Formats: sequence, C-alpha cells, structure tokens
Amino acid sequence: MDAHRTDIHEKWLERISLENCLKLPFFHYRRNMQQQKIEFYRHNINEEDIVAVCNVLRSQFLTTGPVVAEFEHKFASWLGIPESVAVSSCTGAMHLALLRHGVGPGDEVITTPLTFVATSTAIMECGAKPVFVDVCHKCGMITPESISYAITPRTKCIIPVHLYGRMADMKGFAEIAAKHQIALIEDSAHCIEGMRDGVVPGQLSNAACFSFYATKNITCGEGGAIGCKSSQDAAWYRSARHHGIDKNAIERHDTSFQHWDMFFLGWKYNMSDIQASLMINQIERMSQYRDIRENKESIYRAMLDDIEGLEFMEKPEPGEKSAYHLFTVLLPKNVNRDIIAEQMKQKGIGCTVNYRSVHTLSYFVKTFGYRPEDFPIAYEIGCRSLTLPLYVTLSDDNITYICDTLKDIISSHRGI
Ligand SMILES: *Cc1c(COP(=O)(O)O)cnc(C)c1O
Repeated sequence: MDAHRTDIHEKWLERISLENCLKLPFFHYRRNMQQQKIEFYRHNINEEDIVAVCNVLRSQFLTTGPVVAEFEHKFASWLGIPESVAVSSCTGAMHLALLRHGVGPGDEVITTPLTFVATSTAIMECGAKPVFVDVCHKCGMITPESISYAITPRTKCIIPVHLYGRMADMKGFAEIAAKHQIALIEDSAHCIEGMRDGVVPGQLSNAACFSFYATKNITCGEGGAIGCKSSQDAAWYRSARHHGIDKNAIERHDTSFQHWDMFFLGWKYNMSDIQASLMINQIERMSQYRDIRENKESIYRAMLDDIEGLEFMEKPEPGEKSAYHLFTVLLPKNVNRDIIAEQMKQKGIGCTVNYRSVHTLSYFVKTFGYRPEDFPIAYEIGCRSLTLPLYVTLSDDNITYICDTLKDIISSHRGI
C-alpha cells in the first residue's frame, strides 16, 4: 500500500472506531427520544426469586416435584381455600375444570364476550358452545341477573370472568348455579387478590382458574393454577395434567421400583419445579404490590378526571377488594381509540386494548355468525377502551407523563 492509501485507510479506521460508532446512534437516540419510554408492563422478579430458580437448576429435579407441591400449598393457603393444583396455563386450567364438571360436545357454557379469547377457546376445546351474555356497562362483567334468560336445558356451566381485578358477583352466580344444578368456574386470570361480599376466588365456585402468564400480577412467564375445595377434584386434576397417569415423576423417583398405569385420557398441562420456584416468593409480596397498584390507580383517576367524555369503570364497592390488575378507561365517544393508541405508542407509552369483544373476532363471526350489535355494551367497551400501564415500578412522574400525553392527544384529535 502506498503512503497516501495508508493514510486514507487510517482515517477511515479512525472514523469507524468503536467510540465513534457508539456516538452516532446515541446522538440520534437522544434527539429522537426526548420523551420517556414507559413499558406497558414490568414484572417484579427480584434477586431472591432468581436465587430460588438457581437452586432448582442446581438440583437433580427439574420437572413437577417438591417445589410445585410447596407452591401449591402456599398458594392455596394464601387464598384461604383447601386445594390448588399448578398447571401450565389458565387456559389449560379452565379446560380441565370444564372436563371435570362434565362439559362436553353439545353442551352450552354461559360466559362473557368481554374477555381474552382463552375463556371461549377452553369451552370449545371441550366441544361445547360458549353462550355470550352482554356485560354491565358500569363494571364490564356479566351479572347474575343478566344470565338467567340464557340458561337452557343444555347449559352445563357458567364462567364469570373477574375483569381488570374486580370480582364478579360470585354470591349471585353461586345461587343461580345451585338452583339450576350447573357448575360454576371462575376465570380468575385478573384476580388473585380480590374479595367481594367476604368471598375470595375459589371459595364459592367448583374451580377458580388463575394465570401466571408474563403480564399477570405474579408470573413465571407461562403458568396457571386451579383452586378448588374438593380433594377428589384436586387428585383428578393432578392426574389429568399428566396424561391421566396415576404416579408422577417424583413419586416414581422417590420410591422403590413401581409400574405406573394410565387410567384415563389426560393432557400434558403440568408445571415444572423451575417455574414454581419463581412463583413462591412472589406470593409473599402479592398484598403489598396490590396496595401499591391501588394507590397508582387513584392517582390516575384524579389526574384524568377532567377529560371531557372520558369514562372510568366503576370503582369497587366499599368493603370490596380489587386486585387492581389493569387500569382501563373508556375514551370519549368522539375520538378514534386506535389513533389515540398509536399516538400514545409514538410517545413511548405502552398501551393495550382489553378487550375487543370476543364475538367480533373473525373466528367467532365465521363460526357463530355474530354481529357487533348482538352484544352492544361489550362491543362499545371493546371499541372505546384503552388500558394504561399499571405496575409497582411505575413512578408518579410516569403517571403524570402518561396523563398529560393522553390529554394532549385527545384534545388534538376530537372529531376525527
Ligand atoms: C391471560 C388471561 C387468560 C389466559 O391465561 P393463560 O395463562 O395465558 O392461559 C384467560 N383469561 C383472561 C381473562 C386472561 O387475562
């Protein structure tokens, strides 16, 4: 290489030096990101939880074993119900609970359209039909009064969904279920920490199904549990989550040589010790976290109170305890929710929609021929709702920024 070319080469090398490479994108980042970045959700996994997982990883046993059993015991006693069975998801939990209570092809199960699709897909996995009833406009949930007209001789079960953290009227549902001798299963994915009329999830129903999916109040990424009162039910769930086999891996590991046998056609819905180890310490922090989210929700409500046409979901009744899982508002009728959601995203704020009513989703339109107006309140909430970030590490400054941004966006979009 001649001297000139070497010189150019060196200058070029200098320009692409690591330091300069870092400077350029950083500069752009600073220029473009004058706003904050606020995730929709942040989990609260701490060092103690990580150590617990590492302890399992260093042990011999990785799948369903002693740590799952410990988790089940702690979870049930925290709730104050006799039994809990850990499974791989809330969807799997609902599927097993429906099967346990005899739901099969040709049966009808009454539920809400304002929920995640899993409530309906679990029903359809059993070969049964989800029968939707429109929701109450104040709380977004089905009520005991509203479901009575939907009960037919084919109705086998009711699945109320505890929405955004508030509990459905379990006392009322339990009365109807007893009167018609049908099963009652709770979709409790949003509500572990709730209480209504002195009743907690799992207390009045045949089964309460919980989710530990990545964005839930306590999480192991993917996981679920069934809470129930009957030890026979719990034993059936423990077998059903594992192929319908009578002995699980730990029982075979810890005893003398034995054959296992399979008694019925089960599923593969078990939780591993790795997942359970992540959950155990979170149970102890649950109440404290709930109280923090309650406080954050009240800050939100105060700050958003002056937006004309924006509506809140009804607050819990005095004496009632919400789990404060999601903070969902109904945007004013004269703005376009999807545009607002996109603008919030552009401002660095993670928002979601909980939920577009299930009866409006393509598969359900195609399969059952629903029209939006069949369940007008669920449809309207599905069109107007926006869920804002709500979690323990969300700061008061974050909430101020979110509320100011939402106000700005709404005022510049009215009438679009
Ligand atoms: C998350 C969620 C589910 C599904 O939970 P998985 O554990 O992911 O199966 C069901 N119902 C509702 C209301 C949910 O929010």
